[in-house]
Amino acid sequence: MEMTEAKSKQKDNGTLFSQFMENVRSKNEHEAKFIQAVSEVVEYVAPFIQEKDYYQNESILQRIIEPERTVIFRVPWIGDDGKFHVNRGFRVEMNSAIGPYKGGLRFHPSVNLDALKFLAFEQIFKNSLTGLPMGAGKGGSDFDPKGKSDNEVMRFCQSFMSELFRHIGANTDVPAGDIGVGGREIGYLFGQYKRLKNEFTGVLTGKGVDWGGSLIRPEATGYGCVYFADFMLHRIGDNFRNKSVVISGSGNVAQYAAEKSIHLGAKVITLSDSSGYIHDPDGVDEDKLDFVKELKNVKRGRIKEYTRKYSNSKYFEGENPWSQKCDIALPCAIENELNKNDAKDLISNGCKIVAEGANMPVTLEGIEAFLEANVIYAPGKASNAGGVAVSGLEMSQNSMRVNWSKDEVDKRLHDIMLQIHNICVKYGKESGDTVNYVKGANIGGFVRVADAMIAQGLV
Ligand code: NDP
Repeated sequence: MEMTEAKSKQKDNGTLFSQFMENVRSKNEHEAKFIQAVSEVVEYVAPFIQEKDYYQNESILQRIIEPERTVIFRVPWIGDDGKFHVNRGFRVEMNSAIGPYKGGLRFHPSVNLDALKFLAFEQIFKNSLTGLPMGAGKGGSDFDPKGKSDNEVMRFCQSFMSELFRHIGANTDVPAGDIGVGGREIGYLFGQYKRLKNEFTGVLTGKGVDWGGSLIRPEATGYGCVYFADFMLHRIGDNFRNKSVVISGSGNVAQYAAEKSIHLGAKVITLSDSSGYIHDPDGVDEDKLDFVKELKNVKRGRIKEYTRKYSNSKYFEGENPWSQKCDIALPCAIENELNKNDAKDLISNGCKIVAEGANMPVTLEGIEAFLEANVIYAPGKASNAGGVAVSGLEMSQNSMRVNWSKDEVDKRLHDIMLQIHNICVKYGKESGDTVNYVKGANIGGFVRVADAMIAQGLV
């Protein structure tokens, strides 16, 4: 039987995109996380561009997955015991179509080119969704700050910046923090940049408020994630009040996701780190959260110490918190920390909303399980964009040499998260009143960057 023209075109495109993913796989065969991130985007963007020849003729998909530049360098440093150490440093400058490269630095033993390419790729769509003029990048090192003295961390940061400074700049590439890079590390990195360049510019975000940082930057990713989840709840006539919330991680994002959940009247029952999780049936209140902040940010201790202080709570060594009954789950630790079985546990325990605070914490099969079960699920590129959004606001304040108040920045953050939510609804609407936030975030983030790439010609 003869196929209609439309059907035949659809078939051609289907083949084209499966060939596209095959090429991505063979060209990046050792980069499983990068392939995972690309395939999540292509699944939704491919059908969207099927009828739009201008995106296809300009090979936008082929260009958008290739970093504009990747820098890999040696980072030698000396330990307190006088021994020499060598780590590997990276900066992936992924896409500058809509602004200077922008994205965090991660210091963690798992850092390699695969992890950073996936993070930089995600960053393209996330930064685009914020509506701010920020391109995409990501960098870091396989250095582990855990167990190192402040002096060791400082010497490492100085050595790292002694190479990185050549590649970044306030109008070129503006890194920020990520896992293992908080206020302490940004301080040492900024100090070394200033010494090498002899200029005080907004080359990094996440700086201290007394020297160019923005109020609300530490809170931004966690607060933004909860604002986003709250918008999803409002869409279905609900809110955070009296909801039970399961959070993973106990670092920057997790702490402020917990704080905002508490502010909105919810009960946070778990926190975790890479060793295990704590469950507190009475809920983590503001005082208990202050204890966690001191434990993690100052003493750099382990989450299990929580149970020594709060005897009603329990510690689960080597486990993640997804088997706990909850209404809302906020994965805020690391990629692929929530798989299909974890998703099934959450679904059978009645979880209704999942918003990613971390980058790609849910596996592709986990996402599929949530969507099939009609759990309202937000991908990190939408729900954790608050951090980079406030980084963008920090860049604006640095350029204008002004400091906005806490309320001003928080209001802008809230408005940006609402705008991202609305973009997701616009592009993610499916039959009836259903919204697929993965589809909405991927297509909504893609359009702005793709159009800018076309406008700027083949570069
Ligand atoms: P932090 O370093 O402050 O905290 C990371 C948390 O994750 C720690 O509790 C850490 O525990 C835990 N963790 C690390 N590895 C594992 C593992 N294998 N299993 C379970 N838990 C683990 O980082 P952030 O809070 O800044 O970042 C968390 C996530 O949020 C990352 O995916 C990051 O990319 C993402 N993100 C962060 C933004 C920001 O502004 N900071 C912005 C947008 C996204 P331990 O102490 O044991 O290592």
